[in-house]
Amino acid sequence: MSRSDIYDAIIIGAGPNGLAAAVTLARAGRSVRVIEAAATVGGGTRTALLTLPGFRHDVCSAVHPLALSSRFFRDLPLDRCGLRWIEPSLPLAHPLDDGTAVLLERSVGATAAGLGRDAAAYHRLMGPLVKRWAAVTEDLLGPPPLPPRHPLALIRFGVAALLPASLLARLWFRGERARALFAGMAAHAILPLERPGSAAFGLILAMAGHAVGWPVAQGGSQAIADALAAYLRDLGGEIVTGQPVTAFPPGRSCSMSARSTCSASRAIGYPQPTDACWRATAMARPRSSLTGRWMARSRGLPMRVAVRARCTWAAR
Ligand SMILES: Cc1cc2nc3c(=O)[nH]c(=O)nc-3n(C[C@H](O)[C@H](O)[C@H](O)COP(=O)(O)OP(=O)(O)OC[C@H]3O[C@@H](n4cnc5c(N)ncnc54)[C@H](O)[C@@H]3O)c2cc1C
Repeated sequence: MSRSDIYDAIIIGAGPNGLAAAVTLARAGRSVRVIEAAATVGGGTRTALLTLPGFRHDVCSAVHPLALSSRFFRDLPLDRCGLRWIEPSLPLAHPLDDGTAVLLERSVGATAAGLGRDAAAYHRLMGPLVKRWAAVTEDLLGPPPLPPRHPLALIRFGVAALLPASLLARLWFRGERARALFAGMAAHAILPLERPGSAAFGLILAMAGHAVGWPVAQGGSQAIADALAAYLRDLGGEIVTGQPVTAFPPGRSCSMSARSTCSASRAIGYPQPTDACWRATAMARPRSSLTGRWMARSRGLPMRVAVRARCTWAAR
């Protein structure tokens, strides 16, 4: 029996998605091993001493409004594993060339008030979307449900979100302050702002700032990965670090794509594909991460190829 046969699942990469997939499987009673190439867990949520002694820096991700909005995250007892969220009173300040800054505040009204002649336009754009934040995230943070649970909220969001950020900013706002605020947030798409769909990121980050804030993890984003890892170990999962995976073991390995989310969820005993099952399927491989999918898209790869994940299932 090869070593892989003693686990129900082996997950490659201890980034937040790999750890979330492992936690999901372990909670479903499956035995899981996570294999991580780097010396520490965390992937894009790593925090490191990069400059002066004693100063910890987030290497990639720093603010986590989607963690607060995710039902999966809310269900986990990560506070017991040391995770504490810090909520800054101001989510974001965008500096301008004239030495002033434009602010994203928790309230739509206060943010609009700082946008001069675009105040009413900002209100009209963000007000209705923020009210529907819970509905929009329920449909967006996971496998797209068919039919959508909240079609009207999704249509309202989608009409604006599908536009290029540059076009939405030009159509909707007249002044530099509102356009700069929106462009700064949309740039998180890691896409050219002229690309269709890039507006989605500006909208989501602004909506999140108003609806739940832009929280940071106390001690740096590493605390998120450390808490997930601690919880996984509590559930009996194993994590090995410092071991790059260079080949898949022969034998009972199967390749799953996002299209087989249903079979993956059945495999772990879930009647329906859930957000976390989707992650277990689609996120098991770094290239299939959200960032990877955007990258694959921008290179023109079909989505199905980008999200292909490979898991090893034993004893079935
Ligand atoms: C610059 C930047 C800033 C970002 N800021 C934010 C932010 O503020 N908020 C936010 O929510 N998101 C942010 N993101 C996105 C976020 O970092 C990613 O969505 C998230 O890290 C993806 O998690 P993952 O587990 O899918 O992949 P990763 O975090 O990339 O983890 C993959 C892991 O797999 C390991 N691995 C790779 N190959 C192998 C192998 N062959 N064998 C073993 N292990 C392997 C890697 O070492 C890594 O630890 C940012 C991304 C970037 C690039």
